[in-house]
Amino acid sequence: MEGTTLNNQIAIVTGASSGIGQGIAFALGKAGAKVVVNYHSNAEGAQETVEKLKSFGTDAIAVKGDVSKEQDVITLFQKAIAMFDAVDIVVPNAGIQIDYKLHEMALEDWQKVIDINLTGQFLCAREAVKLFLKQGVRDHISKAAGKLIHISSVHDVIPWSGHVNYAASKGGIDMLMKSICQGYAVDKIRCNAISPGAIATKINENARDTEEERKEMLKLIPYGRIGQPKDIGEVAAWLASDHSDYINGETIYVDGGMTTYPGFKGNG
Ligand code: NAD
Repeated sequence: MEGTTLNNQIAIVTGASSGIGQGIAFALGKAGAKVVVNYHSNAEGAQETVEKLKSFGTDAIAVKGDVSKEQDVITLFQKAIAMFDAVDIVVPNAGIQIDYKLHEMALEDWQKVIDINLTGQFLCAREAVKLFLKQGVRDHISKAAGKLIHISSVHDVIPWSGHVNYAASKGGIDMLMKSICQGYAVDKIRCNAISPGAIATKINENARDTEEERKEMLKLIPYGRIGQPKDIGEVAAWLASDHSDYINGETIYVDGGMTTYPGFKGNG
C-alpha cells in the first residue's frame, strides 16, 4: 500500500532489523509513516532498515532493546516520543523459536520463548495502550486513537508438536489481542493480529535448506509459493490505515491457504 495513507503517523516495529519486521517497516514507510526500528543485537540490519526508509523519503530511527525486558520496552516508547512526539501504530513482531520435543524441553527453553514471544507482546501492548489513551484520537491523522498489530502465527490455531513453547506463545497472543480489543475499542483503540504462514526469513531457513525440504514445505501451502516479508508488510500497512477502520479484534491469516489444512484435500 504505497502512497500517503499513513502520512504524519508514527510507527514502532519490534524486531525490525530482519525478516518480517523489516518488511513491515518498509511497507509502513512506503505508505508515509515514520518508523521507530527496534532491534535486539543486529545493529547493522537495523541501520539498513533505517537507511532504506529514509530513501523512501520518510524518517526513521533505530532503537536497541530487548522486548522481554520491561525497562527496555518503556525506554523504547520514551525514545519514540522524544524523537517524534507521538505514536499511532505499534507492531509487536519480535519472536524466536527454540525447538525441542516436549519431553526433551528444558524449562529455560520454554521460558525464553514465552518471555520474548508473549511477555514481549504484553509489554509493548501495555505501553502502547497507555500512550493511546493519553493521546486520544489525533485529529486529521487517523480515525483511531491508535493501532496495535500483533504478529502471531498460523500456529495460534495449528498445533505444532516439537514446538510447544512457540505454539503456546502464539495461542496466548490470540487472547491477549482479543481481550485488549474488548477492553479498549471504546477508547477508539484498534487491536488486531496477523498470523503469517511460511515466510522466507532467518527463523525457518533451516527448514528450507534443501530442495526436498522446500518441496515438503510447499505441500502445506495450497497457493504454491513460500511467502515473502513484503506479503505481511502490505497487510500490516492496510491494517494500520483507516481503510480497515472497522476491523477490530481480528486475526488475518496471511498464509497462502495453509490454514485450510491441504492434507485433507483428497480423502484426508
Ligand atoms: P527473524 O528471525 O528474521 O526475525 C525475528 C526478529 O526478532 C529478529 O530481528 C530478532 O533480532 C528479533 N528479536 C529476537 N529476540 C528479540 C528480543 N528479545 N527483543 C527484540 N527483538 C528480538 O524471523 P521472522 O520470521 O521475521 O519473525 C518475525 C515474527 O514473525 C516472529 O514473531 C515470528 O514468530 C513470526 N512468524 C514468522 C513466520 C515465518 O514463517 N517466518 C511465520 C509465522 C510467524
